[in-house]
Amino acid sequence: MIRIDNVTKHYRGANRPALNGVSLEIEKGDFVFLVGASGSGKSSLMRLILREDVPNSGGVFVLGENLRRIPGRRVPYFRRKLGMVFQDFRLLPSKTVAQNVAFSLEVIGKSRAFIDTAVPDVLEMVGLAHKAGNLPSELSGGEQQRVALARAIVNKPAILLADEPTGNLDPATSEEIMRLIERINAAGTTVIMATHDRGIVDRLKKRVVVLSEGNIVSDERGSGYLSVPKGAMPTEMTPVPSSGFQEEVIISSRSFLEEGSLETEGDN
Ligand code: ADP
Ligand code: MG
Repeated sequence: MIRIDNVTKHYRGANRPALNGVSLEIEKGDFVFLVGASGSGKSSLMRLILREDVPNSGGVFVLGENLRRIPGRRVPYFRRKLGMVFQDFRLLPSKTVAQNVAFSLEVIGKSRAFIDTAVPDVLEMVGLAHKAGNLPSELSGGEQQRVALARAIVNKPAILLADEPTGNLDPATSEEIMRLIERINAAGTTVIMATHDRGIVDRLKKRVVVLSEGNIVSDERGSGYLSVPKGAMPTEMTPVPSSGFQEEVIISSRSFLEEGSLETEGDN
């Protein structure tokens, strides 16, 4: 589904490459944590997968496409198969929750009938149907991130890229967001998440890819942080106490994820 083949990315003027001969394969349905100190190359790797940038050398293959071969005019179509969320939510401040989600469908030309069904469905799925008419400024950080997630998945992407999505949230709210991301993954979406949150990584027991100065220094499945080589662990990742999250159900609508249409056909 995603193959990064010996990729080097050297930004102009930088004294070392942001990514230095990185190779990585991610299968359909995987959940991968990308961890590593600030500046280790996590966001650069995500930008290459999104085709926001191209490497100096090496290949990036996503959903059966060699991204180097996608002409500029087709890039927006390619990106429709991917969803992206960021640490700072990036919602449109003057649009309501529903309008924020609808806008992402309007710009890709979806019909009004489709939008009128898909937006309430996805807002129910993230537990925010009751805030559809509110502005982002009227929401908590966790709620804003749930809107951003709703917007990222409303078009049922094959891949969700999340760049430190819990970076601005308290531990309990981060747990809610992680539950939602796990649900999205369980429904078939491949998830790649950059994070500094050691507690989350240890608890979820997913595949953990560790970057250090542009190199992959560890890639382990289901092992949490314990397997990270000494010296590779970012200094900001000190153990955190369990947030004691509750078995609280924030996802009220199963139907959204049970349509089965998150599956994509024809990719490798
Ligand atoms: P991370 O997301 O792990 O913090 P980044 O991928 O953002 O790391 O950055 C990796 C390295 O590339 C850092 O040394 C950073 O300073 C550098 N870098 C990132 N983006 C740019 C850019 N647009 N121009 C120049 N250097 C950059
Ligand atoms: Mg980053």
